[in-house]
Order: sequence, then C-alpha cells, then structure tokens
Amino acid sequence: MTLGNRVRDQLGRITSHTPADTSVFVAPASTVPGARVGYDLDGRVPAGDPSTAWDRRRAEYKLVSPLNTKKMTVVVVGTGLAGSGAAAALGELGYDVHAFTYHDAARRAHSVAAQGGINSARAKKVDGDSLQRFVTDTVKGGDFRAREADAFRLGAQSVRVIDHMNAIGAPFAREYGGTLATRSFGGVQVSRTYYTRGQTGQQLQVAGAQALQRQVARGTVKLHTRTEMLDLIVDAGVCRGVVVRDLVSGQVWAQPAHAVILASGGYGSVYFHSTLAMNCNASASWRACRHGAFLANPSFVQFHPTALPISSHWQSKTILMSESLRNDGRIWVPRTPGDSRPAGKIPDKDRDYYLERKYPAFGNLAPRDISSRAAKEQIDSGHGVGPLSNSVYLDFSDALHSLGREAIAQRYGNLFEMYERATGEDPYVVPMRIAPGAHFTMGGLWSDFNQMTALPGLFVGGEVGWAYHGANRLGANSLLSACVDGWFTLPFSLPNYLNPLLGQPLPGAGDACVRDAVARVERRTAALLGVGGSQAASKFHRRLGEIMYRGCGVERSAASLTQAIADIADLRAEFWDDLSVPGSGAQLNQGLERAGRVADFLELAELMCVDALDRQESCGAHFRTEYQDSGEARRDDAHWAFVSAWEVDGAPQGVADHALSFVRHAEPLHFEAVQLATRSYK
Ligand SMILES: Cc1cc2nc3c(=O)[nH]c(=O)nc-3n(C[C@H](O)[C@H](O)[C@H](O)COP(=O)(O)OP(=O)(O)OC[C@H]3O[C@@H](n4cnc5c(N)ncnc54)[C@H](O)[C@@H]3O)c2cc1C
Repeated sequence: MTLGNRVRDQLGRITSHTPADTSVFVAPASTVPGARVGYDLDGRVPAGDPSTAWDRRRAEYKLVSPLNTKKMTVVVVGTGLAGSGAAAALGELGYDVHAFTYHDAARRAHSVAAQGGINSARAKKVDGDSLQRFVTDTVKGGDFRAREADAFRLGAQSVRVIDHMNAIGAPFAREYGGTLATRSFGGVQVSRTYYTRGQTGQQLQVAGAQALQRQVARGTVKLHTRTEMLDLIVDAGVCRGVVVRDLVSGQVWAQPAHAVILASGGYGSVYFHSTLAMNCNASASWRACRHGAFLANPSFVQFHPTALPISSHWQSKTILMSESLRNDGRIWVPRTPGDSRPAGKIPDKDRDYYLERKYPAFGNLAPRDISSRAAKEQIDSGHGVGPLSNSVYLDFSDALHSLGREAIAQRYGNLFEMYERATGEDPYVVPMRIAPGAHFTMGGLWSDFNQMTALPGLFVGGEVGWAYHGANRLGANSLLSACVDGWFTLPFSLPNYLNPLLGQPLPGAGDACVRDAVARVERRTAALLGVGGSQAASKFHRRLGEIMYRGCGVERSAASLTQAIADIADLRAEFWDDLSVPGSGAQLNQGLERAGRVADFLELAELMCVDALDRQESCGAHFRTEYQDSGEARRDDAHWAFVSAWEVDGAPQGVADHALSFVRHAEPLHFEAVQLATRSYK
C-alpha cells in the first residue's frame, strides 16, 4: 500500500520510502511561516465505482472467528452515539471491550443535545429522493471537500441505521398510518430527516446506551465512567492502548489493547461560546495528534445560523435552536438599519426576508454556512435586532396563522418552551432572535476508508473524525455519521485489522511503552499543578474563544488569522506562566481537568488558524474574505481539491518554550458520480 512516497505494511505502519509520483498531483507550497509540505496520502478507497466501494471493501475484509474474539481487547474512548454503537456491536461480536467516558453514565454523552433529526436516504416519499440525491446533496453541501465514496457509504448505510435504531427502541415520530415521519433540513429539497420531536439525539442516545448496557450485563463490555483518557500507549509507531485518570480518585492507570477507537466528539468548544456542553473538549484527539495521527482540515468549523445570540460577556455557552425550525419559521431583518421598532410594529414592506430574496430555490432552508454568513452580513451592516443588535428574527407568525398554534406546538413545542425559558420571550407571540454560533467541527482526525488514522491501531468514529462532511455539514447528517461509524463501519473494519494480531500479547505494566505513557501523564499533571500562577484555566479559555471568533470565525482573512496566531502564542505563554490550579492530582479536581483541556485547546487553536491561513480559497464554512464573488465562496479546485492532513510536532507540554511545528500532508479528492461544480442555492 503506497502513501505517496511512503509504503505501509500490513498493520498500516509506514515502513519505507519510494520515489514520489509527481505526475498525478502536486500540492501547493504553504505560505504559512514554519509550515512544511509533506507527502500525498492514500485514502485506501478501492478503485472503481465509488457507489459500490464499501460493499466491495467489506467483502474483502478478513474476519476474526467467534472463538477468538474474546482473546482480543479493544478500547473505545467515548460512549456517545458513535462510541456506544461501536462498543455494543464489538461486544456483541464477543471482543473484550473497554469503554471509557468522563461522564457519570454512558447516556450523558453530548449526543443527547441533538434536537432536529437524523437523515436517511430511504426515499419513502414521492419527492424525488434517492441514494444518488443524498450523495449529491452531501458532497455539494460540503463544497466538494469530502470523499465521494464516504458519502455513498453514509447514504447506503443510513437505511440500516433507521431500521436498527428503530428496532433497539428509538421512538421515531410517525405519520397517522404508522409509517415513520420525516421533515426537511437545510441544503436539501426533499424530506429525509427522521426525528423524535425536538429530542432526536436524546432518544437515539438512550437507545444506544441501553444496547451498550446490555453488553455490560453480558460481560463483554467493561464500562469505565468518570474516567478520562489522557494519553495513548504507542509502541514502535503502533497504538496499543490508553492511559486514563479516574476523575474521582485521581488514580492514573494504563489499559493496553490490540486496537483503540476514539469516539470522543468534536472540538467546537475551542471557541468557548459554542453550542456544545461546557465539558466537551479536544484532548483525546489532540493527544493522538501529538503521537502521529493527523488532523484533517481543522479550520472547517460550522457556525450554526439558529443559535441564540450572546447576551453577556459572562455567559458560559451558547444555546442552539434546532434547524428544523427553519421549516416553518421565516428569517428577516428590518430593511432600514437601526430600525428599533418592536417586530410586530414593522410592516411586511419594511422587512427584508433576505434568505428568501437571495436564495429563492432554498429560501430559509439554505445550507448552514450560507445562512450564517448572510446573517452576519445583515448584522454587520446595521440590520441586527435585539438589545445588542446582534441577531436576526426567526418568525413563526405566518405559520401560526396558516397552521394554527396546535400544529406548531406539536412540531416544535419543546423548542419553543426552551426558547422561552432561556430568553423570557414567548415565541408564539414575538419572533425568536437568532445569531450564528460555533457548533460543529467538520475537521477532525484524518482516517482512511477503513476509519484508521495515520497512527496504526487507532481508529475513529463520529464527530472526532473528518469524514463525510467536507467544508460544511448538512443538518441531520451528523447523528447519522456517528451511527454509521459506530454500528456499521468500525465493527467491519476493525476485525480486518485485528485478524493478523491473533496471539499477540498485550503490553504489560512493566513494558517501556506503558511506563513511558504513564510517566508522560504524571509529568504533565505535575506541570499543570506546578505553575503556581494567579489565573484559572477558564479565564484563558474565554480569552481564547474571543481570539478565535475574531480571527477564525464565520469569516477569516490573512490579516485576522496572522494576528490570531500571534495572540494564541502569547496566550499560551501566559498560560504556562500564570495558570492557577488549586488542589492536587490525587483527588477529584475539576480545575485540573479543565486546565489540561485548555492547554490542548491552546495548541489546537494555533493549528486551526494555520490551516485556515494556508488554504488560499473559500469553500463551505471556510470563508476567506479575499476569495469571494460578491459574498459567495470562491473555490479553487485547480489547487485546493484535497484534504489537508496536518502532522504536529513540538516540545512536550508543560515546558516554557512551547513552539509547535506543522507538516501538511494531502489527500487529493476526485469526483466521479457528482460533477465538480460551483454550488448554487439560488
Ligand atoms: C446542540 C446540538 C444540537 C445538534 N443537533 C443535531 C441534529 O439535530 N442532527 C444531527 O445530525 N446532528 C446534530 N448535532 C451534532 C451531533 O449531535 C454530534 O455531532 C454527534 O452527536 C456527536 O456524536 P459522537 O458520538 O461523535 O460524540 P459525543 O456524543 O460528543 O460523545 C463523545 C463521548 O466521548 C467522551 N469523551 C471525550 N473525550 C474523552 C476523554 N478524553 N476520555 C474519556 N471520554 C471522553 C464523552 O464522555 C462522550 O461519551 C447537534 C449538536 C449540538 C451541539
């Protein structure tokens, strides 16, 4: 298996160099000081028709006999939709599975927050949906910066996902006749989103966590709650387990494994104010990067157009209102900048329904990147509403008039209630106020078609990975990707990796790779506790978020990114000089947990800005102000139709001089089934 100028052995280790094949693809030089260009990556997609790639690959996979699965240990980090699915499926196959979560129960993973729905290309309606349309929508929605074969897998397996989740207890909404109900989400013109009122993630997560608990009861899965993975065990370039900290007792211990799956979620909380829960973090994936896994397209971040506006600097997070509201809500701003009349006093002629005006074909269901940018444009040009003029209206008055209050309450009742509780305003009476907020990370750990990262033995599932969504994720495709990875991809690809490892002993506590990994964690904990400064980690996190919104937000430019990179380096230096972590490591210590996570964010943020500065085009949510055609993203397929997969190097954390260096590897992207074209939602 060649990787540009390198070769991989059976386990995926990069073993030797071969001359680079320059006839196919030449990655552009990086203009970012200190960033180097590496080699071309092979995504290991089988040659030929992308629509059948997964079926063909699955047929080739080697298996592990049911008699042998119990002899092989697999670690799964995370019990969200991706992790609980993977752990339950591998447990069902008989593997010795260890599942870790820092939450106090599997079902509390952040997947519970998802409201709107989960897509499936079941095409049960007569609206023209099909697998091909799902793939076209997904690839086009992602602005052609994802693998086409991945999108086919996502669409094809989506049918199984709905049937499976339905069978294990997810109470999907139903039509009068008992068939499963659907609705529409942004970026599509069909109705393929399955839902359970405004609590889809919660209901799916409860079903997934129950399936996991069933395996716990059978004895195939050992569930470690309130336990945080802090490092990987790496032996001769292969991942062979994890080092974790018991968050209650402070005990640090190693769990060796034949393979590790990271299903630890996304990194949107690097922005501090985000729609993610406060304790979501990037430490698992960032530590993997520091061991040779690559981070793909880290600057591809989705800002959700229907988040609630920030109302105070001291607010700790941003609340999301589901995109499903855009099915019936109409988005508008006053035509005249600074018009401060209450919404109800502004007549229709003085309103600008700007999405309907600019994108008549998709209207209020334009994709998220486009809708967020359009909202920011309105707010920046003085049309923003609310006390801080930092929001736009999402108005249900027309829908209430035509459908009635009961129909609207049935569709969105709990979302309306949530809005009223958060703002004190009744959306049945006055329009909601919404604004773009950091939400979902399309970037993530690079993996090949088998979901294995560049660090052999380390696999990914769910939002922690980069796959499927390109530069902009379509609404309701993420619950889907987490379920597809967990239930229907990793349980097939992992056995293929494990097959040749049968009989291989696990590393023991006395082996150097285990001792080194534990020592690294202990050194780092001591470093965080030992700074002895005056500022809590949360203060640094808040300031980092401000830098990121300003420098690498809905829009970015060379100037804003260059400034952000300098600011982050300064903040990181200040962190290691003036951090205060009270208490010790040998007890429950949330200040210490937070400090470790913020230390990782302070490095990840730099790479996000480097990636955004490096990519000299606009695509999807990555909007560089220099590359646009009258406000629309200008892609440059001739030079940038590839995935940037960054390798990270640098001194160990906790030392004063903390410079990082980055190498950009590239996986070229090819499109066969969906024609590479400029997106238009007009
Ligand atoms: C408010 C909100 C609404 C959303 N609505 C939708 C929607 O309607 N439709 C849709 O498709 N998508 C939606 N999304 C996105 C979707 O919910 C997520 O992308 C998806 O649920 C992620 O699932 P996951 O399994 O990858 O990760 P998560 O559910 O985030 O789970 C991560 C797991 O990893 C564990 N973990 C992390 N780090 C460590 C560590 N170091 N050690 C131990 N454990 C660790 C956590 O404890 C947790 O168990 C929404 C997201 C948000 C924030």
